Amino acid sequence: MMPAAPLAPGATIGILGGGQLGRMTALAAARLGFRCHVFAAEADSPAEQVCGAATVAEFSDREALECFASAVDVVTFEFENIPAEAVRWVSAVRPVLPRPEILEIAQDRLREKDFLRSIDVDTAAYRQVADPAALLRAMRDFGYPAVLKSARMGYDGKGQVTLTAETRAEEAWQRMGGEIGILESFVDFACEISVIVARGRNGVWATYPPVENHHVGHILDTTIAPAHIVSETAMHADAIARHIAEKLDLVGVLAVEMFVAQGGDLLVNEIAPRPHNSGHWTIDACITSQFEQLVRALCGLPLGSVEHHSDAVMKNLIGSEIENWRDAFSDPLAKLHLYGKNEIQPGRKMGHITRLMPHR
Ligand code: AMP
Repeated sequence: MMPAAPLAPGATIGILGGGQLGRMTALAAARLGFRCHVFAAEADSPAEQVCGAATVAEFSDREALECFASAVDVVTFEFENIPAEAVRWVSAVRPVLPRPEILEIAQDRLREKDFLRSIDVDTAAYRQVADPAALLRAMRDFGYPAVLKSARMGYDGKGQVTLTAETRAEEAWQRMGGEIGILESFVDFACEISVIVARGRNGVWATYPPVENHHVGHILDTTIAPAHIVSETAMHADAIARHIAEKLDLVGVLAVEMFVAQGGDLLVNEIAPRPHNSGHWTIDACITSQFEQLVRALCGLPLGSVEHHSDAVMKNLIGSEIENWRDAFSDPLAKLHLYGKNEIQPGRKMGHITRLMPHR
């Protein structure tokens, strides 16, 4: 279901999920005069703190979801692991963008990789494994190192185990913790990049330049924008991201994470049909941020320019790194973003700092 007409300021965007991506979407929406209503399982979520309205309920609460949907004009989601059923209930009442089918592909690493293969996009070699015995067979076929991931509910390295010749299949299976696993060959990459693509309801595209992502413990730590890669690789990455978004019939924002192999080949690791951590730099360094693009797409407005007036380095503040937030103020070209999370936990994204290098 697509909204019939463009939404005018004053209309309400419903956001499923209460994290920092919802918060930054709501801030972008507010600037354009739109209201946001967040649906989150916990009270005082980062998104709720900046939204005019909130529903605090579980994603299994059908009545609460339907009531939320009827109170808004269009709905989006800010994280992947929302039960597909919940999204379907909402989409029966109001349009959900990007399309719920796209979310269902991105939620499941196997579906995601099968989809990518079906549209001729390269990925690491992978195989579905349903139990420790199948894992052992796949480990022997794939060789080492390899990576075992849970097919569902994985993010920021959760449910992920790196396998070596010494790893015991049974133990790796327990650590992975999922019902179905996916074994991937380990990619000896030169670097990791991502491309964020936006598409409006009018079918017009915009892609930000590829950025380079550095992970620590499987969690994104730093993004360098734009990526230091040769222009052929950048153009190839852009083409892959557009191809995926086109095949998905995207309306909204989609991030495509890729490995740049040593020889320059590109392998897609993951897609995320929402604003992405590696796109936070766009808030301060681009004419239009990824969040504003999403709001524009949701509301049926034309996309803005993706041009950047500064290069940027975005550093996540993870766990106790938040305690050094004052450091950001020692650099007048640094922009501090805090997410309003009260409790510090190891691995939890608490905020980020974008250091700008303006083009002169
Ligand atoms: P993911 O949860 O799939 O996004 O993985 C998180 C991070 O783990 C990636 O950004 C990579 O740094 C690393 N990783 C995941 N899969 C592989 C792989 N097949 N080969 C090498 N590194 C990987």
